[in-house]
Amino acid sequence: MSEKIRVTMYNEYLEELHDANCAKVYPKGLHGAIGDYLAKNPEIEFTAVTMEMPNCGFTDELLNNTDVLLWWGHGHHGEVPDEVANKVQRRVLNGMGFVPLHSAHMSKPFMRLMGTSCRLHWCDDEKEVMWTVTPSHPIAKDVPEYFVIDSEEMYGEPFGIPNPDEVVFIGWFNHGSVFRSGVTFRRGNGKIFYFQPGHNSNPGYYNPHVLKIIENAIYWAKPDFIVPNREDYFGKDVIKI
Ligand code: ZN
Repeated sequence: MSEKIRVTMYNEYLEELHDANCAKVYPKGLHGAIGDYLAKNPEIEFTAVTMEMPNCGFTDELLNNTDVLLWWGHGHHGEVPDEVANKVQRRVLNGMGFVPLHSAHMSKPFMRLMGTSCRLHWCDDEKEVMWTVTPSHPIAKDVPEYFVIDSEEMYGEPFGIPNPDEVVFIGWFNHGSVFRSGVTFRRGNGKIFYFQPGHNSNPGYYNPHVLKIIENAIYWAKPDFIVPNREDYFGKDVIKI
């Protein structure tokens, strides 16, 4: 691993361009809001790619030099090429950290890594109270016992994920729904943290606690070990002792 944590964010980046409500909240895109925050951290090197780029911006070189991948997609999951999803999945299994955000619960890479429906209940704007239910977890560092997000899309249980390794945050919404909002998994050598806030017409990615949690998740998910190329690694001759 290089000295800095190499973070790449894939953002679908269509609604912020073409929907007036989203453009007003995120004039620089969701990746702009998150990127501006992470730019203050000298230990993080941030690169953003978007759907309109060839292959969604994923060159092999970029992916092979990404330590932690953030992913935000919404209405166009199906248009992400299978080849990109396969490569992301493989890189996670090799050790890359993966932080799917909000509606990335239905993204190809996350669904492949989970192997379940990943579906959930949802409805428009509600107030959310985010509870830190595992305060000793590194992703909860410097995050209060609870905080309020005034306006966020409601995501509710049942959430069609496998049982997570850890539930770090639970969201409560003012109509009574609850949601496992921050959950961790390991797949192969890779660490995964799914985090629920971040609907693109709500200002969640300006909330300091939400941003802190994403930053903490980057530190938690960064690989200690990464297999450079899985086929080569596992395709070596058997070592005879
Ligand atoms: Zn949404």
